[in-house]
Amino acid sequence: MSNPLIPIAKLGTTFAETAVKVPADMDKPLGTRNTMIDPHGRHVTYLRVSVTDRCDFRCVYCMSEDMTFLPKSDVLSLEELDRVCSAFVAKGVRKLRLTGGEPLVRRNIMQLVRALGRHLKSGDLDELTLTTNGSLLEKYAAELVDCGVRRINISLDSLNPEKFSTITRGADLSAILKGIEAAKRAGLKIKINTVALKNFSEEEFNPLIAWCGEQGFDITFIETMPLGDIGGDRTDQYLPLSDVREMLSNKWTLTDNDTSTGGPSRYVDVAETGQRIGFITPLTHNFCATCNRVRLTCTGKLYMCLGQDDSADLRSPLRASEGDELLFTTIDEAIGRKPKSHEFTIEPGNDAPALARHMNTTGG
Ligand code: SAM
Ligand code: SF4
Repeated sequence: MSNPLIPIAKLGTTFAETAVKVPADMDKPLGTRNTMIDPHGRHVTYLRVSVTDRCDFRCVYCMSEDMTFLPKSDVLSLEELDRVCSAFVAKGVRKLRLTGGEPLVRRNIMQLVRALGRHLKSGDLDELTLTTNGSLLEKYAAELVDCGVRRINISLDSLNPEKFSTITRGADLSAILKGIEAAKRAGLKIKINTVALKNFSEEEFNPLIAWCGEQGFDITFIETMPLGDIGGDRTDQYLPLSDVREMLSNKWTLTDNDTSTGGPSRYVDVAETGQRIGFITPLTHNFCATCNRVRLTCTGKLYMCLGQDDSADLRSPLRASEGDELLFTTIDEAIGRKPKSHEFTIEPGNDAPALARHMNTTGG
């Protein structure tokens, strides 16, 4: 088995291979730049937005059972979220992902999705997508397609109703499967996200891979990340994906697929199903060198890295004036502080989270 203790010094070693030439735009004063290039030469073109920290599930690796959510008065209105997202589109973001908490539980969320869809129509945005637990897809799938959404990620950790209920602390698998069916019927391309948990997921992988094969879905396995207090020891949950891959190769014929989406997934093709498996390995593999993304919380905090605490407050400049000059200046400053790599580590016996904030704050 791999040692789950990953020395921080090992991270961030491949920048020389990926650094791009910094365009002249970066010499322009703060607030006047058209692109977002960070100090390490990475072009930021992807914004993930947590539209709410609230959720109808309480997944054991994501939240504690008695989560305290943010006061609604702290949360950006849908109009404010639209304004910030549109500012990022103006600065070169080509892909927007709505996430949460559960994005579809936010009241009137489709107003925001529809409004953002105008950037797809104008050609300023390549993709508008979301990550969802699937609970409200029966209600919203067709409307999402109508707003221009073409692909979504759905989180699903087990096809066993009891285990699904255990891991989500009470959700009903049959309702989620109906939601997934509705999404498929509406024509959405679906990718399944599955968190790998020790002593839980081992028996889930093969049925999930087989089912995804039948459905025509790709699946991505995600290592648990030490974000936020979940009321227990995370090292008990940690299952390195290197071990998972070894386990899977006993049953499936896996071939490395060199497709790079610029994201953190490494892919393999599964000969028996014709689908792909992605592996997101923040702890055992450093994906920071190709990082093209930043994350906005529902209160307007911009996190330049999922695995670091530094953030920039965009709510104050947003509310300080009707124009976007201050907002652009704050974004330029923030991009100038994007760190080279995350500092995740899971140390056996240390149950303190590496970062105090939960995954529902930044949306993964
Ligand atoms: N509620 C939606 C969902 O579950 O898809 C969107 C938000 S959720 C925070 C986004 C993704 O983060 C999900 O795929 C979830 O499994 C994953 N996630 C949550 N907590 C995590 C953690 N501590 N480590 C790794 N992945 C986590
Ligand atoms: Fe909710 Fe998603 Fe977190 Fe599960 S992973 S509790 S569905 S936000």
